[in-house]
Amino acid sequence: MSEIPNRNGAKLGYKLSDFELLKTLGTGTFGRVYLTRFKGTEQYYAMKVLKKAEVVRLKQVEHINSEKTILSEINFPFIVNLLCTFQDETNLYMLLEYVVGGELFSHLRKAGRFSNDMTRFYTAEIILAIEYMHSLDIIYRDLKPENLLLDDKGHIKITDFGFAKKVEDRTWTLCGTPEYLAPEIIQSKGHGKAVDWWALGILIFEMLAGYPPFFDDNPFGIYEKILAGKIVFPSHFDPSAKDLIKKLLTADRTKRLGNLKAGSDDIKKHKWFRGVEWQVLLNRAIRAPIVPVCSHPGDTRNFDNYPEVSEEEQRIVGVDPYKHLFKDF
Ligand code: AMP
Repeated sequence: MSEIPNRNGAKLGYKLSDFELLKTLGTGTFGRVYLTRFKGTEQYYAMKVLKKAEVVRLKQVEHINSEKTILSEINFPFIVNLLCTFQDETNLYMLLEYVVGGELFSHLRKAGRFSNDMTRFYTAEIILAIEYMHSLDIIYRDLKPENLLLDDKGHIKITDFGFAKKVEDRTWTLCGTPEYLAPEIIQSKGHGKAVDWWALGILIFEMLAGYPPFFDDNPFGIYEKILAGKIVFPSHFDPSAKDLIKKLLTADRTKRLGNLKAGSDDIKKHKWFRGVEWQVLLNRAIRAPIVPVCSHPGDTRNFDNYPEVSEEEQRIVGVDPYKHLFKDF
């Protein structure tokens, strides 16, 4: 984790009043993400603000601490960069690089669906990021278009490590987003890295179709469909893409592509990726299919508008009953 620079180049502990909160970029269950400007340098960042009381009420203490630890540890071109964290009596703060192009989700909904080539480009960058996380024994567990941002050139930046976990073998917590859950998570069988490859199969389908393969009005309906495993492929799908999706959406994780002896290499060698130059891709040297429109570093046109909270709601209270829970934050 790097420090943000200040005028003298000295390292500082930061506090909320060092920043201007300019606009809400997105909201989560226990906090929101703001576009912010550091008063020292006028640089823009994204600031994730989490209310300690909400984190505790929703039993997310471990997840949040692990999000911080994991994000501090990783450094990869297609993963959002965490610059620093700090806290006060009321909130936890994570200062992230501002990813100006908005959510892949918004671009996908605007386009309806992505072409085969576009989908392959995003998928390939995501594969490199998952491969990197898995090499550190980190499972991501929340792959979906809302957590994939586009940078100024249109490359992927994965954000939201709230469900990421360091595990060498298996883990048992039920978390993630219903449409993207692997069967072994729904069945509480214990799950490992293979859940990210399952979610990748869902994501490829959703990018190509404009909707996920298993959907319903309520989560239980979704779970039933996932466990039944019947996938209806639109006729416009490229046959190789269809083949890859089927191999990723294999219910038996011991037979799932990505989770076999050769690991992610099996996916990268799949015929759908024929011609992809993985090293060039890693260097962000392949031109992205959507270059987000952006006229200055603090431009928020690629994000939706959210109602802002009042100053009263943002107030920092003077007592902190939860300090002991966030010692390492
Ligand atoms: P999160 O709670 O981490 O899922 O973030 C909620 C939303 O805030 C995301 O879906 C994005 O729209 C936005 N967001 C999160 N991190 C960033 C970032 N580094 N730059 C720009 N927007 C972000």
